[in-house]
This record gives sequence, structure tokens and C-alpha cells, in this order.
Amino acid sequence: MPMYVYEAKSGGCAKCASPGFEVMQSLNDAKLTRCPDCGAEIFRVIQAPGLGHSETDLHYRAKRAGFKCLKRVQKGEYEPMY
Ligand SMILES: [Zn+2]
Repeated sequence: MPMYVYEAKSGGCAKCASPGFEVMQSLNDAKLTRCPDCGAEIFRVIQAPGLGHSETDLHYRAKRAGFKCLKRVQKGEYEPMY
């Protein structure tokens, strides 16, 4: 199941403020528009593992390093894609 990253458009709480939070969703799930915790408007950060190595994506991953990394450790198969 793909992992999506959401981030508050502005402000937000500890959960949704930059760099956002990760949500496991199926492709059929509607995308979130509000933070489930604080109700702030959020947008889905485009992440396309394996589809590109854009600077933005690399920067994003670096920025996110160490943040909520448990999921990525458990899902070690994400790493070989880079
Ligand atoms: Zn929030």
C-alpha cells in the first residue's frame, strides 16, 4: 500500500506542520484535505519513489531524515529505490 505525505498549507499542529506526516492509503482512498488532528488544510506532497530523482524529492527526504523514520526502517524495501 502506498505511503503518502501530507503537509499543512500554513500553520498546522505538531502532526501536520512541515515536514508533515505520512499516511498509508490505498489508491482508491480519497485524498485527505484536512488534518485529522487539528483540521488545518493540508495538501498531498508528491512523492514518486522510483520514478525520478528530482532535487526537490532528495531535498525533501533529507529534510525529513530522522523524522518519523520508524516507518521507513520497518519498510526497509523503500531504501533500495534510491
Ligand atoms: Zn494538524
